[in-house]
Amino acid sequence: MASYNKLLHAVFLLLLVLSFVAQTSGESEAGAAAPPQCGSESGGGCHNKAHALKLKIIAIGSILVMSMIGVCLPIFSRVVPALQPDRDLFALVKAFASGVILATGYMHVMPDSFDCLRSPCLPINPWHKFPFTTFVAMLSAILTLMVDSFSMSYYKKKSSQLIVEPSERVKNETGGLENIGHCHTNVAVGLDEKGSQLLRYRVVAQVLELGIVVHSVVIGLSMGASDNPCTIRPLVAAICFHQLFEGMGLGGCILQAEYGNKIKAIMVFFFSVTTPFGIVLGIGLSNVYSENSPTALIVVGLLNASSAGLLNYMALVDLLGSDFMGPKLQGNVKLQIWAYIAVLLGVGGMSLMAKWA
Ligand SMILES: [Zn+2]
Repeated sequence: MASYNKLLHAVFLLLLVLSFVAQTSGESEAGAAAPPQCGSESGGGCHNKAHALKLKIIAIGSILVMSMIGVCLPIFSRVVPALQPDRDLFALVKAFASGVILATGYMHVMPDSFDCLRSPCLPINPWHKFPFTTFVAMLSAILTLMVDSFSMSYYKKKSSQLIVEPSERVKNETGGLENIGHCHTNVAVGLDEKGSQLLRYRVVAQVLELGIVVHSVVIGLSMGASDNPCTIRPLVAAICFHQLFEGMGLGGCILQAEYGNKIKAIMVFFFSVTTPFGIVLGIGLSNVYSENSPTALIVVGLLNASSAGLLNYMALVDLLGSDFMGPKLQGNVKLQIWAYIAVLLGVGGMSLMAKWA
């Protein structure tokens, strides 16, 4: 317990230092914003490859740690008795997590896609003639619905076959005893309901992770490819908070999917390494990769648009919609109001983060 407290203190200290560094460097940077130049970025007065590399290595470590803390926080909250799935506080944590996911889609990923696909570095025809971002986001929302509904009907079909077979067998063996057959199917339907709900949570958790990954890699990539310490320094702190928050959102969804420890660990690992991986990739490609090249703009813009559609659909339909229309919140107006406050807190925090990354 004591070591846990020490760790917590260390994390807070780290956050404090990081936010201070961000603040002081943010001030010196103000007013230095140059109009976007296509091709390679000019560092202005702030261009130091060695110093930038040192900052990036610090960033890799601290972002990794913060992502892990963020995503593990809701998962380990299972140990706390007040956060068991049937308690009210659990519903509030879930509402907060859903808000974070919603804001990630609307406030981070969607605007990024607009920035890319509407960039002055892209030819006017066709990129400025047609709203590609919203078009791709719309298609991806439909695709997510298809994954949702097909996986559900596949599961229902499979489990109904499993139910019919044994009950038929019972009937045949007992010479058509109605009572046993009836009782058996009733239990099976109850199990099926629970199973399909769990399957839904699992599909949501996995597809969600996929939707978040694109944004996480891209913010790492743009940091890794930059040689400008003045822009990297505030980004380190911003991305740390960003991943902490987003991790909490994802962690809340992994929690309700009730995976075994192995799959949980894989999902935590996968989420935590995405941004550091993006930074490493950016460092490796920094001579080749340019944020403003037409290829990078189009690829990143389209990927962001499709994850925006996915995240918006999932947050509204699978997370918020199903919870707020579900029996728990519908049966308790007071809890419903608190849940809305939790959603607004999650949305507000993540929206604030959009100022930096
Ligand atoms: Zn972001």
